[in-house]
Amino acid sequence: MKNIDTYNFTDKKVIVRVDFNVPLNDKFEITDDTRIRAAIPTIQKIREGGGAVILMSHLGRPKNGPEEKFSLKHIITDLSEKLGTDVQFANNCIGAEAVAKASKLKAGEVLLLENLRFYKEETKGDKAFAEKLAALADVYMNDAFGTAHRAHASTAIIAQFFPTEKMFGYVMNNELASINKVLKEGEKPVTAVLGGAKVSGKIEIINSLLSKVDNIVIGGGMMFTFIKALGGQIGNSLVENDLIETAKAAMQKADEMNVTFYIPTDAVIADKFDNNANIKTCQAGEIPDGWMGLDIGPETIRTFSDVIENSATILWNGPMGVFEMDNFSKGTIEIAQAIARSTSKGAYSLVGGGDSVAAVNKYNLANEVSYVSTGGGAMLEFLEGKTLPGVAAITPSA
Ligand code: AMP
Repeated sequence: MKNIDTYNFTDKKVIVRVDFNVPLNDKFEITDDTRIRAAIPTIQKIREGGGAVILMSHLGRPKNGPEEKFSLKHIITDLSEKLGTDVQFANNCIGAEAVAKASKLKAGEVLLLENLRFYKEETKGDKAFAEKLAALADVYMNDAFGTAHRAHASTAIIAQFFPTEKMFGYVMNNELASINKVLKEGEKPVTAVLGGAKVSGKIEIINSLLSKVDNIVIGGGMMFTFIKALGGQIGNSLVENDLIETAKAAMQKADEMNVTFYIPTDAVIADKFDNNANIKTCQAGEIPDGWMGLDIGPETIRTFSDVIENSATILWNGPMGVFEMDNFSKGTIEIAQAIARSTSKGAYSLVGGGDSVAAVNKYNLANEVSYVSTGGGAMLEFLEGKTLPGVAAITPSA
């Protein structure tokens, strides 16, 4: 494996797997350019080092070949502006046009290939397809953390055609460094704050984190399965009855491993799943029938904030309540603010996973935490302790 910071890119053609899977509106305008912005330092580093850049990505989920709405041509103007150069485009990611344009590419120039997923071979991890992509370049770089948990042609299979000339870009390096900072080198006490709708999506993460953290703080819809497991009354709150034993086992294992489990003591409850419902606060284990818990309560916010502010390392995944509705967003806002305060006092904080990232952005706190992960699913699988194919293809020992 090579290092982007020390590699000599002079006269090399570098094929970079980026994550340009950006949302487009019905006029094909980019509504959130975060992922494009994230890739710029990597691309500029190669250009400044005298290399030529071939960019490949997916966009959306095309089902049967090319589709206008999933064309990467919609991002050419934006990308060209951000890079300060005219980005060339190949209307097909493989074939004669891509080969001709790639072969003519000069130092500092950038070629964007059309959506990889116009070929079903991409997601199938087809070797012959990967080989055609590989033939366009001298060096392979993976900078798409968001798809690192997939063994696709461009994210993993292609690496075998570059036995030595392969490396991560800055997005990948930063993501991996930030996760390691929490899970491997985290200064104690290490606290994981977990929320979101369901225990089922998070139980593997909880079990994997037990050997790595000092505190596990539970909020969101999944708290009610834990509260019921402890004998509480949860009314009509979200619950996964088939996971009650699993929740009990996780709490017991935490006890044995000296990990403190924090379950909410009070909740904001509503008589329907609606921002305009009747709302009150009650003990988390005493929710009347006909009512459902939709956020953590004020006492819980104080307890959780204390734990967070006394932590040296914090991982946050998943909202504390139904934060999309204003009346149930207080728990998520205040926990995000506690993480920001703790960070300003020197803690290292990593926010990862779709909805908590949406929350820190919504409350303008993205710059007040140490790192905001760009890869939802990939981050979750990493936290579950799984090996990511996109990472292993470049560093087999990872
Ligand atoms: P996840 O995708 O599993 O991280 O879950 C995120 C979703 O969980 C968000 O859309 C929240 O609205 C939802 N959520 C959080 N707390 C609750 C709750 N108490 N009841 C129902 N849904 C919730």
